[in-house]
Amino acid sequence: NEGSETFRYESDITRLRSLVIHSLYSHKDVFLRELLSNANDALEKLRLVSLTDRSVLSAGEGNVTIEINLDEASRGKTGQIVIRDTGIGMTKDELTRNLGTIARSGTSEFLKKAEEGQGVDGNLIGQFGLGFYSCFLVSPTVRVSSLPPATSGNSEPTQHTFVSSSTGDSFEVFPDPRGNTLGRGTEIVLSIGEEEAEFLSVEKLKTLIEKHSTFSTTFPIYIKERKTSKIPVPPPQSPVEDGDPDKFADDLDTDETTPKEETFEEVQEESWIRVNDKAPIWMRDPKEVSEEEYKAFYQAVSKDDTGEPLGWSHFKGDTGSGVSFRAIIYVPSSLPKEFWSKMTSGINNVRLMVKRVFITDDLGEDFMPRWLSFLKVTVDADDLPLNVSRETLQNNRFLSQLQRILIRKALDLFTKLSNDQPETYKQIAKLYGNALRIGLLESPKDKVKIAKLLRFESTRSEYTTLEEYVENRKEGQKQIYYMAGVGEKAEDLARSPFVEKLFARGYEVLLLNLPSDEPMMASLDQFMGMTTQDVSKKGLKFGDEDEHEAEKKELEAQKIAFRPLIDWLKKDLAGQVSDVTVTNRLVTSPCTIIVDSYGWSANMQRIMSAQTD
Ligand code: ADP
Ligand code: MG
Repeated sequence: NEGSETFRYESDITRLRSLVIHSLYSHKDVFLRELLSNANDALEKLRLVSLTDRSVLSAGEGNVTIEINLDEASRGKTGQIVIRDTGIGMTKDELTRNLGTIARSGTSEFLKKAEEGQGVDGNLIGQFGLGFYSCFLVSPTVRVSSLPPATSGNSEPTQHTFVSSSTGDSFEVFPDPRGNTLGRGTEIVLSIGEEEAEFLSVEKLKTLIEKHSTFSTTFPIYIKERKTSKIPVPPPQSPVEDGDPDKFADDLDTDETTPKEETFEEVQEESWIRVNDKAPIWMRDPKEVSEEEYKAFYQAVSKDDTGEPLGWSHFKGDTGSGVSFRAIIYVPSSLPKEFWSKMTSGINNVRLMVKRVFITDDLGEDFMPRWLSFLKVTVDADDLPLNVSRETLQNNRFLSQLQRILIRKALDLFTKLSNDQPETYKQIAKLYGNALRIGLLESPKDKVKIAKLLRFESTRSEYTTLEEYVENRKEGQKQIYYMAGVGEKAEDLARSPFVEKLFARGYEVLLLNLPSDEPMMASLDQFMGMTTQDVSKKGLKFGDEDEHEAEKKELEAQKIAFRPLIDWLKKDLAGQVSDVTVTNRLVTSPCTIIVDSYGWSANMQRIMSAQTD
C-alpha cells in the first residue's frame, strides 16, 4: 500500500497479545463485547467533545450509531464481520499508539497475574485496557480504518488504515487507498476463518449482543439482516421456443405424469435491525421490567454470567439539592473475593451515569460505607452537568446526599426481604451478617434499623431476631443476655457455666460466635428498652429476684456460712483476682471466673491476643 509504514509492536504488547489470545481461547465470544464497548467509548468521547465543539457532529455524519455487517461472501464458510461506529475516530498517530505501541498502565500487573497462572478471564482484559486484542481471537488478520472528525486543530483529516495479523510482531499503518469513505469514525474488518464460522450468523451475533452489550452500550447498535424471499415466477406460455428436441421430449413426459411445478425466484432483501432498542432498564418503570431482565442486568453489572442476585431495589430518588436520579441496588449472591481484605480500602461497586452517559465507577473509597461495599449499584442522575469530574463531584452536596439515600434504601431492601422472603433472607444473614454487625458499629444513626436485621443463634432457637428475643423475655427481665466466643459452636457456648443457670431458670441467652458480635453488642447497649448484658461479666441481673425470695434468703445464709472460705480464697489469690463472692449464677459447676463489667471478657482477650501475635 502506498505510504505504508511498518511498526514493531512493543515487546510487552507482543507478549500481552499472545497471552490474551491463549488464555481466552475458550471465551472467544468476548471479542464482540470488547469491540462494541470500544465503539461505545468512541461515541461517548465524541459526545463529550461535541458539548464544546458542535462542529464535530455536523461535519460528516450526524448519526451516532454502531453498525455490524456480515460481508456478502459470508454465506460460505469464511467471511467478514464489519463493525463501524461514527465516534471520535483515530488519527494515524492514534492508530499507531492506541492499537500498537503504548504500554498502558496496569499492563505489567496484568502480565504478572496472567503469568502467575491466575485465571485470566474476560473481565480482566476489559479492566486492563486490552480489549482490542480480543479481535485476534476470531480473526487472524484485522483491518482498522479510522477517520477523526474535522476540528479546528485538524480541519482536513485523512482516513488511515491499520493492518495486523495475530502472529507477526509488526503492524502496518497507511493512508486508506479508498480515501475518506467513513463520514467519521472507525471501521473494523475481521476476517473470520472456517473454525470461527459460527460467528458469521446474524442470529449468533444478536444473541451475543443481547447477552453482553445491551446494558453497557447506550448508543444504538444496528445489524444488517438479509432475508431471501421466494417470489413465484409464472410458468412460460409455450414450453420451449428454440427447439431443443431432448428438452421438449422431457417436458412432454413430465406433463403426462405430474402437474407442472411452480417455479420461484429468490430475492434478497436487506434491512438494518436495531438490536438494543429498549431503554436501559434503570430508566424504565419498575413495573415494566421483568424478573429475567433484572437478573440479566445483574449478570452484566456483576460480570458474572451465571450468578443470580439475592434481591434488588429499583427506585427514583431526589436529593435535597434538586438532583433527581434513578438507581438499582443489587444484593449479590456471593461475597466478592477480596471483600474482607479490601474492607479497609473499600471496593467500588457504584456506577454513576448522568443522563445515561457513563461518568465514573470510582467515586472514591469512602463513597459507600465499606460494610455495604458489596452492593452493586447503578445510579443515573438527571441534572448534573455531563462533564462533571470526580473532583467537582466530591465538592458537590449531591454525593453525600446520594450516599445517605443509598444506605437507607439498602437497609429498606434488607428489611423488605426479611419480611417477604425469609428463606432468601437467611442466606443474606449468613453471607452478610458480619458486615451488618460492623455496620451497626460504624453507623450509629442506623443502629436500631441494623439491629433488627441481625440474626442470632440462642438457647431457644437456631435463628432469632432481637425483636423476638424481647417478645420472649420473662416477666421483669430487663437485660438481653448473650454469651460470646469467636468461632465456637453455639452448642458449646450453651454448655458454658455462665449460661446454664439462666437457661435453667428459663431465660434465653444469645450465643454469639462472630468476631464482630461482642463489640457490636457492647455498642448496641440498648434495644427496645432492654440493655445488652454479657453473661460472663459483672452486672448480670435476673428479672425474677422477687419470685425467688426464698432463694435470695438462702444466698444470704450461704454468704455467711461460706465467709471463712471466701476470706481464705481472697487472701490466697490476692493479686490474681479482684474479688471472690458467693453466687447463685451456677447450677452444676462448683465455681467460675467472671470478668469485671468494664474488663475484657475471655473472648475479647482471645481476639486481642490473636491480633497482637
Ligand atoms: P481500552 O478500551 O480499555 O482503552 P482497548 O484495547 O479496548 O482498551 O482499546 C485501546 C484504545 O484504542 C482505546 O483506549 C481507544 O483509544 C482506541 N480505540 C479502540 N477502538 C476504538 C474505536 N472504535 N474508536 C476510537 N478509538 C478506539
Ligand atoms: Mg476497550
